[in-house]
Amino acid sequence: SKDSGKNKFSVFDLEMNRYQVRRMSLEKDLRKALARSEFMVVYQPKWDSITNVTVGLESLLRWRHPEHGIISPVEFIPIAEETGLIVPITYWMLHEVCSQNMLWHKEDVATVAVSINMSARMFEGESLYDIVEEALTRSGLAPHFLELEITESIAMNNMEETVVLLSKLRKLGVRVSLDDFGTGFSSLGSLDEIPINTLKIDQVFIRKSKMHSKKAIISNIIAIAANLNMEVIAEGVETTEQIELLQSLGCTVMQGYYYGKPMPVNELGQWFLDKKA
Ligand code: C2E
Ligand code: CA
Ligand code: CA
Ligand code: CA
Repeated sequence: SKDSGKNKFSVFDLEMNRYQVRRMSLEKDLRKALARSEFMVVYQPKWDSITNVTVGLESLLRWRHPEHGIISPVEFIPIAEETGLIVPITYWMLHEVCSQNMLWHKEDVATVAVSINMSARMFEGESLYDIVEEALTRSGLAPHFLELEITESIAMNNMEETVVLLSKLRKLGVRVSLDDFGTGFSSLGSLDEIPINTLKIDQVFIRKSKMHSKKAIISNIIAIAANLNMEVIAEGVETTEQIELLQSLGCTVMQGYYYGKPMPVNELGQWFLDKKA
């Protein structure tokens, strides 16, 4: 039995090692990914289920790795955050997304706000404001067609500085939404002090919305948004049951596979045409 214990340990060792090897090789490759143009942006529609129009898009990053194929942001964003690479990557995203959105405006494909996910790192230091302004100026996009998605932990961490920065961005006209709302255990007492346009109900609540307790949470988030004069959107909507429940609770704007998966630019043009027809 002493032997089998030892064996188990070495299997675990091997697993750890395999994980660390991939982690290290991905980190090395991630450093070159921007220069090698391996990133791609996909866009997921935000849909008004009453008026049946697209009211926004969320940009999501994909990494086309030369050997491993498409790598999920769930795997590489944490590496990018740890190494600080998230800063140049986010700068690239801002320029890419603003100029793409400007193109959609010019071609009359769509005139909606596109959101970009922000990491905590982007709120350290003061360069975010300047880089947002630069991306808007260079692309010619009006500020209210850009939205930043932040999380509760970003908002609550270093709250005073974050509020100053967000207020400046809001003054410029940029929109701000609070992502994954309800999962961050943030103090509700400060929610009214953060300049936010929209609360995004996290998809875990939608996935389990058959449970009374989750339904109660969804219903309360919708009430908070209404009382604080914020918009509300539900994430991860996949079924008609979920749509009906959300509508009955007063949330009509939705995002999820039911309406559209995240799509690359070339597919999205067709998607808009199909929806207009
Ligand atoms: P998130 O911001 O909460 O994005 C929503 C995630 O849910 C996306 O996964 C999206 O593809 C997925 N999703 C949308 N609708 C559905 C649905 O109906 N069902 C299910 N099961 N999933 C749905 P994705 O694209 O893999 O992104 C994962 C996370 O990676 C994002 O979560 C975000 O935190 C991060 N991320 C993605 N792109 C970026 C980026 O450009 N910058 C930063 N900082 N983070 C990013
Ligand atoms: Ca998001
Ligand atoms: Ca989310
Ligand atoms: Ca999330």
